[in-house]
Amino acid sequence: MGKIYIIDVTNRDGVQTAKLGLSKLEKTLINVYLNEMGVYQSEFGFPTTRHESHYLRANIKLAEMGVLSPILLEGWIRATSEDVETSFKLVPEIKHLNLSISTSDQMIYGKFLGKKHPKDITKMMTDAVDAAKALGTESIGVNAEDGSRTEIGYLIEFGIAAKEHGATRFRYCDTLGYDNPFTIYNTARRLAEEIGLPTEIHCHGDLGMAVSNSLAGAKGVIDGGQDVYINTTINGIGERAGNADLLAVILAVTKSKGFAENYKLGRHIDLSKSWKLAKFASYAFDVPIPINQPGVGANAFAHASGIHADGVLKDPFNYELYDFAELGRGEAETVETGREICSGEYGGISGFSHIMGEMAVHFDDAQQAENVLELVRYANVESQKPLVADELLFIAKYPEIARELLTLTP
Ligand SMILES: [Zn+2]
Repeated sequence: MGKIYIIDVTNRDGVQTAKLGLSKLEKTLINVYLNEMGVYQSEFGFPTTRHESHYLRANIKLAEMGVLSPILLEGWIRATSEDVETSFKLVPEIKHLNLSISTSDQMIYGKFLGKKHPKDITKMMTDAVDAAKALGTESIGVNAEDGSRTEIGYLIEFGIAAKEHGATRFRYCDTLGYDNPFTIYNTARRLAEEIGLPTEIHCHGDLGMAVSNSLAGAKGVIDGGQDVYINTTINGIGERAGNADLLAVILAVTKSKGFAENYKLGRHIDLSKSWKLAKFASYAFDVPIPINQPGVGANAFAHASGIHADGVLKDPFNYELYDFAELGRGEAETVETGREICSGEYGGISGFSHIMGEMAVHFDDAQQAENVLELVRYANVESQKPLVADELLFIAKYPEIARELLTLTP
């Protein structure tokens, strides 16, 4: 029986979202939190994009140091041999790649305007897989963009070609959120059966079904005899109406009616990190968590009406499916209502020492404190908002990695 793994794509799909973005330090913290949570893989960025190079290389160093382990760090590129070669030029240490190309007639003819046909698309993809293999890529995922609007016969042919050239996973992308649970179940099952590769399910929320489609797709892949890798983003942040929310997917997999009896996670997920992760992503993206967000919304465990309040006080399971403490909620948070000393790009040593002292961080000497402060200033230039405690602690603990992350040389 196949198992369910999570691949989080916040640092790729999430940051592609219009009007939103993350600093390189914020992206790094997200990788750290995802690793702590037990997520299998982070799609951590764009190896062909020059301003990502230092960030990607610094994160691979963190993986080598054991800080980002066992999570796998995988780069997302277009499925062309040129993109593969550029990736290895800019990020020679890259080990995992996902190669993406449009497979639907709508996109092939609508984007390439008659210059490419399905057989050319397959050839571009297999050339890219060959190039990735030749350069020593350890795992190669092949993404069928707009898979849900692709004729199934071609999709299977495309997937089999990817497998024959050495791809390790096939990603079915419901790029426009067009599927429903019934269609995606059938498609995912057929793809798993006929291509015979571990399969990723990548869903969007244009019709409000990203999480339910992810669950149905996962069932299809496992019933088709393969492991499934569900793509998620934190708080569902992603292009347009967003992606499948990480926490909602895990809750659906582990707590929805009868599902977990047959369909199991391949790696333990520590749900107690959910609250911290959702809050950090909300702060970093500057997007509030909706009041009714599953698990982490302000109202997810709030009760007002007489019957509900009475019921939940007698036994929480009368009106709650799961316990808030399981998600890392329930501790009181202090909000400063008086004087506040914040980090900033023009900060000085006195304020900085105060902030670090509050967190019981002490420096060996004045020079060391000044060095870390300088990095904190640069981090603030990028983020344009006060750093959170974990960002400050990260910089103090890994100053050389932070220096690399913060290096942007146009
Ligand atoms: Zn997407």
